[in-house]
Amino acid sequence: MKDTTTVYQHGTLAMLVVGLFEGTLPVSELVKHGDMGIGTANDFDGEVVIVDGTVYQVVESGQVNVLGPSDTVPFASVNYYEPQVKEAVQNINSTQVQTKIEEDHQLGNYFAAITMRGTFKHMHTRVVPKQSKPYPMLSEAIKVQPEFTRDNVSGTIVGYYAPYLFQGATVGGFHLHFINDDHDFGGHILDFEIDQAQLEVQELENLLQHLPVTDKNFRSANLNLANMNEEIESAEH
Ligand SMILES: [Zn+2]
Repeated sequence: MKDTTTVYQHGTLAMLVVGLFEGTLPVSELVKHGDMGIGTANDFDGEVVIVDGTVYQVVESGQVNVLGPSDTVPFASVNYYEPQVKEAVQNINSTQVQTKIEEDHQLGNYFAAITMRGTFKHMHTRVVPKQSKPYPMLSEAIKVQPEFTRDNVSGTIVGYYAPYLFQGATVGGFHLHFINDDHDFGGHILDFEIDQAQLEVQELENLLQHLPVTDKNFRSANLNLANMNEEIESAEH
């Protein structure tokens, strides 16, 4: 039976902060733990969006690829999607809808998976560019990152709310990615405005944190940076 109470996460955001961008889990393994989610690909190559079990990768050119079973990820979160709450929302911007979700679900101390499917008056994304070895720190890697905007676009927002307590393991607060219905536009969301959409929220009571213990770079890395919080805030919000 599929576990719909757990968010499974491979890798940590702290690993990305220190430049551990090499893929350490094949997609074939990742999708055993869920059919929706977000992440990044090997070499920090773009933004990953998982919808209905398909693993899309938006790369720095703006192009959208589908990752295969042997492609790898350094960091991703997935869950089996079974939302408890479904509702229609319209004419609402990203700040307003996030505030609404936080209030309606009393978010703060637990994880939630979120999707919004529909039409968007405006969508603004960014995509991290592919990195090569020796990998830089996250702050260096994201100095140049292409941004994309589109008006009147239909598609799906996929992402999570995570308690700030887990900042470092992941991104505290909302972390949302987008893929359009034509599969030619998407990325890590900076902001958006909904025309009309179906908002779905799944409250999650378990976090399954998986770590790449056989990876020698991970084993020897120093993940206890004093400025970890600032690094994550500037990179992800
Ligand atoms: Zn992201």
